[in-house]
Amino acid sequence: MTQTLLDALKTRVLLGDGAMGTQLMLAGLEQGNCGEAWNLTHPDRVLAIQARYADAGSDCILTNTFGGSRIMLNRHGHAADVVGINRAAVAIAREAFGGRAGFVLGDIGPFGGLMEPYGDFTEADVRAAFEEQAAALVEAGADAIIIETQTSLEELGMAIDAARQAGAPCVIGSLAYDVTLDGSTFRTMMGIDPERAAEFMEERGADVLALNCGTRMDMQRACDAVRRYRSVSGRPVMAQPNAGQPKLVDMKVIYDETPDQMVTGVAPILEAGVNILGACCGSTPDHIRAFRQALDAHERSRA
Ligand SMILES: [Zn+2]
Repeated sequence: MTQTLLDALKTRVLLGDGAMGTQLMLAGLEQGNCGEAWNLTHPDRVLAIQARYADAGSDCILTNTFGGSRIMLNRHGHAADVVGINRAAVAIAREAFGGRAGFVLGDIGPFGGLMEPYGDFTEADVRAAFEEQAAALVEAGADAIIIETQTSLEELGMAIDAARQAGAPCVIGSLAYDVTLDGSTFRTMMGIDPERAAEFMEERGADVLALNCGTRMDMQRACDAVRRYRSVSGRPVMAQPNAGQPKLVDMKVIYDETPDQMVTGVAPILEAGVNILGACCGSTPDHIRAFRQALDAHERSRA
């Protein structure tokens, strides 16, 4: 890898990957079990999923470490394996590219609880968990750290600090927004709107401003979020919307937006100025392949 992720973003739009959680379930992970432990116990299955994304045309693959902090792993009795799980994840994601150039984004999800005085975790516990995970991902060679599905600026700020301190070559901050009941706008569960989030992330030292997941955040809403980030910041922007809205069918949560439906939103979001486009819950290698074709067609039309 000669070009850094930030340098690549100056020259072209990059394609991210799709969902990991729903793909792990398809590969046999049972609801409630620890998908991150598979980096050590079933690396072949994690690799198979990520290789399908690479084959579909992803330029960036996220490590299978969303719940890979000590606090999250401790719930499954895997706290002793924090470093091993995160290191293995970087190696697997790198291998998924099969020797071609590609960027490995070390994924850090929410720590999954509440801090004092509302919950049991001290700020020091959370800070230490983010620092440990970020250091393991960076030392293993991740090209960036992506802090995903964040709803509070306090937690996001701590994770950005941890990634910077670990020496991450690029730090991506990603928030999950929910469309309000009246449908007029969207903000995070903690009431943060995209402009405020973008200003905060820029101040705190995030290199890329992102959004992922959320409630009723379809391609069009993601496109609105990209515009709103761009209205207050010149930093590169990344978007990973879900494949439609979750629906409960036979007691299972499913996402039913097809690649054909979702891909209609690719040209508009490119026009809005997105720099990395991926997808979140429910998306599959077929969604990413459709994105690749639309992205390539769009680039050709501008050439
Ligand atoms: Zn999601």
